[in-house]
Amino acid sequence: MYSEDSYLLLSGIQHYAFCPRQWALIHMEGQWDENYLTAGGRILHNKAHGSQITEKRGDLIIFRGLKVHSSELGIVGECDVVEFHKSDAGIRLKGYSGLWCPYPVEYKRGKSKLDDCDRLQLCAQAVCLEEMLCVEIETGALFYGEPRRREVVEFTSELRAKLKDIVENMHKLYERKHTPKAVKRKSCQSCSLKDLCLPKLGETDGGSVIKYLEMHLS
Ligand code: SF4
Repeated sequence: MYSEDSYLLLSGIQHYAFCPRQWALIHMEGQWDENYLTAGGRILHNKAHGSQITEKRGDLIIFRGLKVHSSELGIVGECDVVEFHKSDAGIRLKGYSGLWCPYPVEYKRGKSKLDDCDRLQLCAQAVCLEEMLCVEIETGALFYGEPRRREVVEFTSELRAKLKDIVENMHKLYERKHTPKAVKRKSCQSCSLKDLCLPKLGETDGGSVIKYLEMHLS
């Protein structure tokens, strides 16, 4: 169990899963450099977030901008959208009759990714909701802006174990205030911090990042 003053931001999980150094630069050193990918994501997020807006449509209640936390993981954050579906397996919600099952939905720019960065962030939201509401959540969804489609995510034991491992490592690094060294990889091309982290990427051969990576990663 973590004390509240050691909670880390849930949104950092996707950064850490993408690159531990990126997470440390943003969340420990306070560096942030917006590129077109992060700007697009921010606009999509702003559309999804209200300030704790609730909407009811028949057997569905929608909460936007719901604040969540987990003392077991030591994280705090906000869910884009949490849907509550009427179900006998659900929980009671103050002000609503019947039983309701929570279903987190996270909005993302672009397409579904091969890596688990987005799935881990959604899984972290589910773990927070489970702890806060004493309920089990088996699935949630990622809504991607480009195909404008939902991808259902199963919160498997493997995904939960990976999440626990990542968050433990985040806490260890944060306690030590240690920023990992840069490890160049192809994903550095789309990293919002590449000019801060690897300034040489932008200086070589007229700024051709691809050529630089081909030279150094082959
Ligand atoms: S440029 Fe590469 S190594 Fe540096 S923070 Fe971004 S992904 Fe990590």
